[in-house]
Amino acid sequence: MRIGIIGGGPGGLYTAVLAKRLDPRHEVVVWERDAADRTYGFGVIFSDPALEVIGRADPRTRAALEPWLVRWNRMSVHHRGEAFTTAGLGFAAIARVSLLAVLRRWCLRSGVTVLHGRPAPPLERLAAECDLVVAADGAHSATRTGRAGRFGTTLRPCALRYAWLGADRAFDGMSFMIAETAGGPVVAHAYPYADGRSTFLVEARADAAPAQESVQAPAVDRIARLFGEHLGGASLTAGRSRWSRFAVVRNRTWWDGNVVLLGDAAHTTHYSIGSGTALAMGDAVALTTALREHSGLPAALAAYEAARRPVAERMQQVAQASLEWFEGIDAELAAGLPGLATALFTRGGRVSLADVRDLEDPADVTGPLRAVAAGR
Ligand SMILES: Cc1cc2nc3c(=O)[nH]c(=O)nc-3n(C[C@H](O)[C@H](O)[C@H](O)COP(=O)(O)OP(=O)(O)OC[C@H]3O[C@@H](n4cnc5c(N)ncnc54)[C@H](O)[C@@H]3O)c2cc1C
Repeated sequence: MRIGIIGGGPGGLYTAVLAKRLDPRHEVVVWERDAADRTYGFGVIFSDPALEVIGRADPRTRAALEPWLVRWNRMSVHHRGEAFTTAGLGFAAIARVSLLAVLRRWCLRSGVTVLHGRPAPPLERLAAECDLVVAADGAHSATRTGRAGRFGTTLRPCALRYAWLGADRAFDGMSFMIAETAGGPVVAHAYPYADGRSTFLVEARADAAPAQESVQAPAVDRIARLFGEHLGGASLTAGRSRWSRFAVVRNRTWWDGNVVLLGDAAHTTHYSIGSGTALAMGDAVALTTALREHSGLPAALAAYEAARRPVAERMQQVAQASLEWFEGIDAELAAGLPGLATALFTRGGRVSLADVRDLEDPADVTGPLRAVAAGR
């Protein structure tokens, strides 16, 4: 089988590895428009349930990721000089570049051709030359846009803007920091992903975010000043990040002929629940499993979508509740701590009210958080 994969993110590279594992005779080519050492973003989160799912499907991959993972179970909210910290629900994070490097190494070892710095050829040509085209070209997938009518694509833009920054300091677990400005609240989500490194994601209404499109040095300085007490002298970097607007992507169908959508091209989940990477990797497992279990391509692609659509839609529901909570954060601020923190932790329904405990209150450390709805 000739398999052409558009996009060398986690979804595309993992699909390539698994397709080769399925049958080494498969000819697999990945086109990635960026150079091998260039990508967007900083660290990405995997929840414990997400890691369990990967471990069950593919223990080898799970074991290979282990050395790169930074773990925590503390979550805190900082507002108006006060903090509320709780613990229990386990998370891990990995640098996106490390994850991609592991997957790329496996691709090369298993005989996948990865073409870096090369945009994919036009879709109609690829579809004619390959038995299967996997569109793993991300949230802004041009493949999907080109066939938006056939895929039945809908986009729901979020009201807030975000900038995905990095900090040269490892935060103690997941920290939400809320600063109030004349333009409205600015929220930072920070978590460690490597030694001395954290993701530092900032979101704000358009009028609180700098007007310029790219996060240039002055804007980073402004953000660093706003969150100075939490950064404790650490500096922020923007990498390739720009002020962006997240959009929820949905598609009526995930395949059209021999072209199939995978990962963010098929479905996005708001970054505040940190699940898109694990979902894209889960899609890769399901697609290659379906190819193994079904002889005709249409049957395999239908089985892939049937297996993954409910999982993606369930996560999109959780993510929708989370994104709406952050969109309406102005109304939550009046509650102050600990009410604000409790509302934040329980926003998606995965953590129950009874499980939130103030770590600073020694009488109250008994009930650790647990996932209410696990399984990504
Ligand atoms: C701010 C933010 C924070 C996030 N935090 C987390 C987190 O903590 N945990 C988590 O699990 N997920 C997180 N995500 C989501 C996660 O980044 C995505 O869900 C995940 O990267 C999806 O993988 P993918 O392979 O589908 O797409 P991508 O990783 O986006 O990869 C798509 C690739 O396709 C390439 N490409 C596009 N068009 C072409 C073309 N025409 N030719 C060749 N190449 C092309 C792109 O260069 C890119 O490398 C976050 C997302 C954002 C925006």
